[in-house]
Amino acid sequence: MTRPFNFSAGPAALPAEVLTQAAEEMLDWQGAGMGVMEMSHRGREFMSILAQAQADLRELLAVPDNYRILFMQGGALAENAIVPMNLLGGERAGERRTADYVVTGSWSVKSQKEARKYCDVNIAATTEAEKFTRLPQVSEWQLSKDPAYVHICTNETIHGVEYFWTPDLAAAGLPADTPLVADVSSHVLSRPMDVSKFGVLYGGAQKNIGPSGLTLVIVRDDLLGRSLPFTPSAFDWKTVAENDSMFNTPPTYAIYIAGLVFQWLKRQGGLVAMEAQNKAKAELLYGYLDSSGFYRTTVEADCRSRMNVPFFLHDDALNEAFLTGARERGLLQLKGHKSVGGMRASIYNAMPLAGVQALVDYLREFERSHG
Ligand SMILES: *Cc1c(COP(=O)(O)O)cnc(C)c1O
Repeated sequence: MTRPFNFSAGPAALPAEVLTQAAEEMLDWQGAGMGVMEMSHRGREFMSILAQAQADLRELLAVPDNYRILFMQGGALAENAIVPMNLLGGERAGERRTADYVVTGSWSVKSQKEARKYCDVNIAATTEAEKFTRLPQVSEWQLSKDPAYVHICTNETIHGVEYFWTPDLAAAGLPADTPLVADVSSHVLSRPMDVSKFGVLYGGAQKNIGPSGLTLVIVRDDLLGRSLPFTPSAFDWKTVAENDSMFNTPPTYAIYIAGLVFQWLKRQGGLVAMEAQNKAKAELLYGYLDSSGFYRTTVEADCRSRMNVPFFLHDDALNEAFLTGARERGLLQLKGHKSVGGMRASIYNAMPLAGVQALVDYLREFERSHG
């Protein structure tokens, strides 16, 4: 069966191999006599699925031993509250503390807004005035003196802005133990990442990992146990870690699919191979868009996302015709986010180079017939 190429920003396309295996195992997982959705999360079968998924993820991302991998629920937006709830208590609970946010697109706008319910927020930098088309360098950040943490979104899914560098908070003059917290929802596993430079990484699974309903949190050991007293137990990282992500029933099926994706990534050659593939895809697409006067992009070249590529036709009146023609050619879900307009091609790990080539062929064809 050949499927159309799906450019959805999320929930996004999954590798066909993964879906095929899941379909084959739907009624009977490896001789268990039941499907994964029907198993006790505390049974031997599911415990092995969970352990394998954690081990594979740890290997893929080279997560150091002093970091815990947590499988949670609530999505990245719930983490926007869970992060301050988990980092503002502990020994310094009585103090009125500030958290610093670097705002580079819609998702970090939301993060800082939510955090205001729990702490004072300092916007260290924002590129809103430039419509989120670039990344501010650390030298431009106005950090507070002793923030509880510094939050960034390392890939802005809507605006298409990606960090290809990691901020060094100590070099910026902050106390050495200030945690850097990152929303990595839409580019985690697209390339290797130095986890040790972060205190916390979090993301919803539905962009580049698996189905919605699963939230990934990677947190450094020493940051556990700093939660505010009213933190719901199921959202307290320490409680979740102590129970190995089984404080309550985890999203078992989503974890299983994520586990199949991790194995698929290993078969592709791991994250170094994925990075090469993702680079080739992004270069092909941006290369064509740059060469054309018919289409335009707005994000500065050094921070253009390899995962989410917003682009515009020179005339918005052609948008509907463009999308209709795309659908007819099996190129799905290319409409841009309503806050930005135009088009957006999300080209996560599961999108093959052939899909990007098919899109570029269509871009050229549409330009010829409408230019
Ligand atoms: C999709 C997305 C979110 C929202 O995640 P939910 O799982 O819907 O809560 C947050 N941040 C980023 C960067 C995203 O791409």
